Amino acid sequence: MALIVQKYGGTSVGSIERIQAVAAKVKAVQDSGDQIVVVVSAMSGETNRLVSLAKEIDYCPAPREMDVLLSTGEQVTIALLCMALHKMGCEARSFTGGQVQILTDNAHSKARIRGIEGIRVNADLQAGCVVVVAGFQGVDDQGNITTLGRGGSDTTAVAMAAALKADECQIFTDVNGVYTTDPRIEPKARKLDRITFEEMLEMASLGSKVLQIRAVEFAGKYNVPLRVLSSFEPGEGTLITFEDEGMEEAKISGIAFNRDEAKLTILGVPDQPGVAYSILGPVSNANIEVDMIIQNIAEDDTTDFTFTVHRNDYPKTLEILTETSGILGAREVIGDDSIVKVSLVGVGMRSHSGIASTMFEALAKEGINIRMISTSEIKISVVVDEKYLELGVRALHEAFALDEEPQ
Ligand code: ADP
Ligand code: ASP
Ligand code: MG
Repeated sequence: MALIVQKYGGTSVGSIERIQAVAAKVKAVQDSGDQIVVVVSAMSGETNRLVSLAKEIDYCPAPREMDVLLSTGEQVTIALLCMALHKMGCEARSFTGGQVQILTDNAHSKARIRGIEGIRVNADLQAGCVVVVAGFQGVDDQGNITTLGRGGSDTTAVAMAAALKADECQIFTDVNGVYTTDPRIEPKARKLDRITFEEMLEMASLGSKVLQIRAVEFAGKYNVPLRVLSSFEPGEGTLITFEDEGMEEAKISGIAFNRDEAKLTILGVPDQPGVAYSILGPVSNANIEVDMIIQNIAEDDTTDFTFTVHRNDYPKTLEILTETSGILGAREVIGDDSIVKVSLVGVGMRSHSGIASTMFEALAKEGINIRMISTSEIKISVVVDEKYLELGVRALHEAFALDEEPQ
């Protein structure tokens, strides 16, 4: 008898009919004699609807209350799914994150799961009951409701699978696996049968929203066998695996992109020790995460310094930088919040050269200007104007023949 954790995302539970279809799939697992824990998201659009309701009252509502509000979306789905299961003659019990004791830190809206021990569902599973858990939420040590950040139900599912030592964690969504890039942007994108944890981690951190990055981190840390599959079509989906000899030897596995980017430049800063700290210190003190950073070579004892932040943090960062500019006697501050980051990811980059030049050539052919570049062992990212996102992704997909099976 296996223990399976299945997670169904927003679109998969987006209507009563879809919830009933999920119930039928869950019942089939139960009928086969396996134990099953189901983690569900809020019905599609619900989390966004709740966010807008809050913003009608206050653009910056108290984070604690925001989490109380947002966690209700998932609570609706767990109850409805259990009702649908009952109607099919299947025993099922729903639990909120707090009830199963998903313990988190107190960072509201982006809480991290702390403990995964003693998750309270074993007795129900032993009794042959389907356990349905609300994704995306937990409680801190004071009992306050917390949420895990957008896409956080993936992380709940992996955490449950790790805690229960499940045989597999299956993430059911609206695409039938992990593709070479978002199939909504490049219809020629190819589904991958397997992808390594390392590559999936890069893809997720560089913007591929198919899995929340923390879910992938968790799966890697606790060795959780993880699979992404379609709620609507049959198929094996994509298995996230540790690198093994049988892996296809692709140079590039995929292309990720992130629209939530903005870039800022401070021009003509005196080039002296401590300048990077003077610029980025106040940004970090305001809890703003900085992504790419470039400092130009000095000319006339002054230098230019460019970095990127999340687009939501752009106005605040611009304000901070303008203040810093005054203090440092810099020439000017400029910014652009209509840029995107496009990244190539692949473990094969370690052993192949010439990938960066193929990438830059493909973008140049389309007349796409590269504004920033950053590289690491298994990825190359470029910042380009937002209007070039689709064109850039498709050009790279073509240049690396990602629609074809690797030889
Ligand atoms: P869910 O609500 O089920 O959690 P998400 O919208 O969070 O679903 O994630 C699935 C979506 O991720 C797909 O519809 C697709 O547009 C997007 N996506 C982005 N990159 C990829 C990729 N490389 N492979 C598959 N899907 C991707
Ligand atoms: N409902 C949350 C969101 O929309 C969490 C999730 O679906 O994973 O982000
Ligand atoms: Mg998701």
